[in-house]
Amino acid sequence: MFSLHGTAIGGGIVIGRARVLESRRFDVARYHVQPERQPGEVARLEAALRDVKGELGTLAEHLPDDAPHEARALLEVHAMILDDPLLVDAARSQILDHGWNAEWALASQADALAHQFEELDDIYLRERGRDVQQVADRVLKSLSGSGGWPLARGEPAIFVAADIAPGDMLALKSALGFAIDLGGTTSHTAILARSMNVPAVVGLACGSELIRDDEWIILDGDNGVLIVAPDEAILAEYRNRQAAMRLEREKLKRLIHVPATTLDGVSIQLHANIELPEEAEQAREAGAAGVGLFRSEFLFMGRRDLPSEDEQFEAYRLALKGMGGAPVTIRTLDIGADKALDPSVAPTAANPALGQRAIRYCLAEPEMFLVQLRAILRASGCGPVRLLIPMLAHSHEIDQTLRLIEQARAQVQARGQPFDPAMPVGGMIEVPAAALSVNLFVRRLDFLSIGTNDLIQYTLAIDRTDHTVAALYDPFHPAVLRLISMTIRAGRRAGKPVAVCGELAGDPMATRLLLGMGLSEFSMHPASLLLVKREILLSDVGQLSHKVSRLLNTDDPVRVQAGLARLRLDPHRPA
Ligand code: PEP
Ligand code: MG
Repeated sequence: MFSLHGTAIGGGIVIGRARVLESRRFDVARYHVQPERQPGEVARLEAALRDVKGELGTLAEHLPDDAPHEARALLEVHAMILDDPLLVDAARSQILDHGWNAEWALASQADALAHQFEELDDIYLRERGRDVQQVADRVLKSLSGSGGWPLARGEPAIFVAADIAPGDMLALKSALGFAIDLGGTTSHTAILARSMNVPAVVGLACGSELIRDDEWIILDGDNGVLIVAPDEAILAEYRNRQAAMRLEREKLKRLIHVPATTLDGVSIQLHANIELPEEAEQAREAGAAGVGLFRSEFLFMGRRDLPSEDEQFEAYRLALKGMGGAPVTIRTLDIGADKALDPSVAPTAANPALGQRAIRYCLAEPEMFLVQLRAILRASGCGPVRLLIPMLAHSHEIDQTLRLIEQARAQVQARGQPFDPAMPVGGMIEVPAAALSVNLFVRRLDFLSIGTNDLIQYTLAIDRTDHTVAALYDPFHPAVLRLISMTIRAGRRAGKPVAVCGELAGDPMATRLLLGMGLSEFSMHPASLLLVKREILLSDVGQLSHKVSRLLNTDDPVRVQAGLARLRLDPHRPA
């Protein structure tokens, strides 16, 4: 028995046999082809490309009605890569100009393209390099005559692989779970596993080399743990946990329609974070009273052009429709600049997290920003929309953004299109400078939303994507807690709503702490809504605020931890 640790993608615990999938870079044959045989070699490559395109098309056609909505989009992205001249034309030229065989030409071009993505600042875009590799792998398999989808033979199993393409995941209908060596929380594997509601752990480094086919494994998607060849005692323990979790989930469902009100009558807003417009409906079904964070950058990713104003408008309108009249907070583009659009021309920043991200990029590209602002304004004519500006640090960023919103309003008005002239405009507090000068921000904006993911990263100088410093990423560091508390207090003083929309809002271990700080709006992944609601229903804000203000008075992390433990001493006893 041994265990492996990776990145938790969620989905609970599953126990089953391993199916280890052969993926990625079996040896690519490299040889030269005589000039007279080169056209034939190009034809061989084109036939393989056609085969794979056909496979993807067939898979898309046969997607069941209940397939996750991301599935079709991911298959389309892969089909687009098959047409991408940077991959295909370049491979063709390698065959004709250098006499390389089809496999060599394609693999080297895919590696070069994937490398360009890997250089990018933005973690989401870096992951897109893997899509290129996955598509190339499938073509290489077809060239070698071993194409087709991996077979889910026999009983349902936990699939273990170095990497897995979305098409493969969808073909593995009997998957109990996925254990994947590569990827992070934002990889397609992760996104798809979450929406398939299948337990998954990614970033296991070398799991696929250590695990043998047919071995029994326990996959704990919530804690990112994989136990290989467990003994009877461990198996029994995890079976109990599995049963308890099922029971718990069923019990929690009863809270969906219960108002999120504390024992002392404080009403709390529970909102959802979404990445794609289609997720709004699921969020509403899970009990969300609104969307607190729509990460609009997902509309811009995985493509070489920008979404048009109409396309964005439709996406925002779809989210509003999904929420059935409840408010939707659309965050403007939070992405690492135009490198997404043309990586070959945009220089890589030396220190990407501190570079031209989010609002900095949008203000540097006002025409692109105006397109998004007009689309958001037009959506506000269809339902309650709030606009949220990411990564503010300077007051002139607010001035410039408000001026651009004004300009966009005039343009939409001139066209006679409806919009809400009173659409609230808020800002994210996720840079320590913004939290420390929060009064400046709260005066100028209609609401604030605390992005704890970045606030922790920037306060503690910990790259949130670097696993080597992950242990130092401490949401409960006294400095972080003070910044959060200061922001909430400033909002309350000014009578402006303040939300938390980082991961901390969805952590039930932090619910009482945030309630005690005076927070009344939480926005999180829909899967956490009911767990947090249960904490709220058992909490008394009056009592918590005294305990939390004492806790905030100490700089000693040990005392902070003890204070936190006291807040939660008995999770089922009111506090
Ligand atoms: C945050 O930083 O907490 C946040 C919600 O934004 P993102 O995770 O998208 O950077
Ligand atoms: Mg952020």
